[in-house]
Amino acid sequence: MSHIVVIGAGQAGSSLVARLRKDGFDGEISLIGAEPVLPYQRPPLSKAYLLGEMELERLFLRPESFYADNAVALRLGQRVTGIDPRAKTVNIGDEVISYDQLALTTGSHPRRLPAAIGGDLAGVHVVRDLADVDAMAPAVIQGARALIVGGGYIGLEAAAVCAKRGVKVTLVEMADRILQRVAAPETSDYFRTLHGSHGVDIREGVGLDRLTGEDGAVNGAVLSDGSALDVDFVVVGVGIAPATELAEMAGLELENGIRTDALGRTSDPHIWAAGDCASFPYKDGRIRLESVPNAIDQAEAVAQNMLGAGKDYVATPWFWSDQYDVKLQIAGLNSGYDRVVTRAGEGQTVSFWYYAADQLIAVDAMNDPRAYMVGKRLIDAGKTADPDIVANPDADLKPLLKA
Ligand code: FAD
Repeated sequence: MSHIVVIGAGQAGSSLVARLRKDGFDGEISLIGAEPVLPYQRPPLSKAYLLGEMELERLFLRPESFYADNAVALRLGQRVTGIDPRAKTVNIGDEVISYDQLALTTGSHPRRLPAAIGGDLAGVHVVRDLADVDAMAPAVIQGARALIVGGGYIGLEAAAVCAKRGVKVTLVEMADRILQRVAAPETSDYFRTLHGSHGVDIREGVGLDRLTGEDGAVNGAVLSDGSALDVDFVVVGVGIAPATELAEMAGLELENGIRTDALGRTSDPHIWAAGDCASFPYKDGRIRLESVPNAIDQAEAVAQNMLGAGKDYVATPWFWSDQYDVKLQIAGLNSGYDRVVTRAGEGQTVSFWYYAADQLIAVDAMNDPRAYMVGKRLIDAGKTADPDIVANPDADLKPLLKA
């Protein structure tokens, strides 16, 4: 019987095995995950779960019974240590498992601060795995002092949760502005103001020089401008790197992640990749996306292609972030934009529309699901939107879809 092995029991891995069964694969499936918990969704880790407003069970993507009912051999708490592409085997320590086809859904690793500047002190946290958040949560209490390093979405979401729990938060961002890598100045301004209104002290153009500690635990920070802070804990949100180490050891081609073709196949014909770890053809280039929608859609496409569908994966990027009572929804990718059009709503409702040479390429919508929905449908269809209509808050957006 044919055996498909999937390494990485996260968002993509779980979706991939579900799709294999849905599409009628009746061979053996093994889903191997290093973490000792059922595959779970990560977004709440920096939102409702960290806030203490979501039960552990609600994080799980599928109940345990799903895997048994679908004859998926779920091997949790087991880390794959090597792949031999010639023998078509994977190793878990001394154990050798044969596969006919293999999928890598190994996700990514959070970047950490070097030990030389105190990155290894107790009380310095990253936010990637459930275990990271369970270790941090007891520190997130009224009156504690937190330093957040990095003003991307993870850092800002952690800042929002901490502020809501009564923690005194300082956030440092080395770049000129928060969200610089991913959003226009308009979006940065919006979130700076939002966090300021909740008492978060955001310092832009300021990096971390070093952390100080006592008895192995962090107790302070010195910033690049020479200022010093007393801190009880630190959250590091300085980006992630794709988990490519197994692929590298196996000699697979890498290019900002595990390189795949449009089908999701790596440089080895029997090995596939999906999710945060994979880079794939997109428009005229190649991208790697770090999002739940991509992990699901790409994993499902790979599952179909492992069964011979021969269908290119065409990404339609979207993303979201929750901070305080603001839901940000992002449609499209904004790289290469030359103009941003603002559509103002009431209160905290606003959307920013990104154009490149008159073509709509992305929308950031804050508490405005309609703007997001219209923008996404236009972008996915390759259509644009008249900037005068977009900028007029009294103009209905829906007719744009018919244009
Ligand atoms: P993962 O879900 O990370 O799964 C990879 C799994 O592979 C891990 O469990 C890992 O332990 C395992 N693994 C790795 N190597 C091995 C090995 N050798 N052997 C066995 N197992 C291995 N996206 C959004 O779209 N919206 C959001 O609001 C959002 N918020 C986020 C908040 C946080 C705190 C984080 C961390 C991420 C967030 N994301 C969000 C991103 C999203 O969660 C990821 O893009 C998604 O989880 C990627 O899925 P994946 O399956 O590729 O990787």
